[in-house]
Amino acid sequence: MARQVGGRLQEVRGKIEALARELNKEMARLVAVSKLMPNEAIMEAYEADQRHFGENYVQEICEKAPQLPSDIKWHFIGHLQSNKAKMLVQGVPNLFMVESVDSSKLANQLDKACDAVKRDLLQVMLQVNTSKEESKSGCEAEEAAAIASHIVNNCKRLKLAGLMTIGKLGDPNPEPYFKKLVECRSMIAKELGVEESSLLLSMGMSGDYELAIRMGSNNVRVGSTIFGERPPKEKSGGEQASPAVSGGAADKAAGQEGTVLATEGSWFQQTTSWILRHPLSAASCLALAATCAYQLRRLKLA
Ligand SMILES: *Cc1c(COP(=O)(O)O)cnc(C)c1O
Repeated sequence: MARQVGGRLQEVRGKIEALARELNKEMARLVAVSKLMPNEAIMEAYEADQRHFGENYVQEICEKAPQLPSDIKWHFIGHLQSNKAKMLVQGVPNLFMVESVDSSKLANQLDKACDAVKRDLLQVMLQVNTSKEESKSGCEAEEAAAIASHIVNNCKRLKLAGLMTIGKLGDPNPEPYFKKLVECRSMIAKELGVEESSLLLSMGMSGDYELAIRMGSNNVRVGSTIFGERPPKEKSGGEQASPAVSGGAADKAAGQEGTVLATEGSWFQQTTSWILRHPLSAASCLALAATCAYQLRRLKLA
């Protein structure tokens, strides 16, 4: 495992470096997205000198951060409800950036929470929904400028670092969404009266980070390419992050043919280590047993 995570990290870094040379630009920052991954996996990346990590769930990051080195620079990249802002800021003193601010209300709550703990400026990115999907993630491009100026003018503890987008999940061509974010930045920079380059772009994930960098990304968020396939997220129980699974997990796993074999059993290692540290409900145990049976068959061990 150790060599796996470190090796994959090196591979991704090599590609980012090569692109920086080719485009004659500063290297894009690599955020290793560790959601649903155990601390052991994070430490492997840490030992390979990775410091920027991304997490999606408030409860999970608040559990992990205190158990891990304090010089980690955490990026929160998941959907954040305003009423969880305080928990996030209090629970993660080394929170480096919140990339997923999507409303003035959330910005206000983060600002207030930072003020309460008297922390340094918290960097934030405005997440823009560039795909006009009904997906709840990100503000509309039309409201982005107003929220951006609200952050700049009214949130004293926040620093607007840039814009973030996910694009449209499942669309094999992310180009239109990246282009939209680039346009959105031009518009906002004009509105704020600042240089475009003072606003960073966070776009690009495992499948498209190279294209994203070519299109101007300064910050890429790469998860599965570094850590391998993620265990499934438990749907019930709100924020609870675990590889324990709901009823359809075995079916879902059945759709992941190939990837299971490709991870060389890492799913088992991660899941086992998670189980050892968390209590499981009876329903989760049953669902997990079904998934394990499936995975064992796939690996031809049973
Ligand atoms: C999970 C996630 C990523 C990483 O996805 P991979 O495809 O595993 O690289 C990046 N950004 C956000 C917002 C995510 O939720």
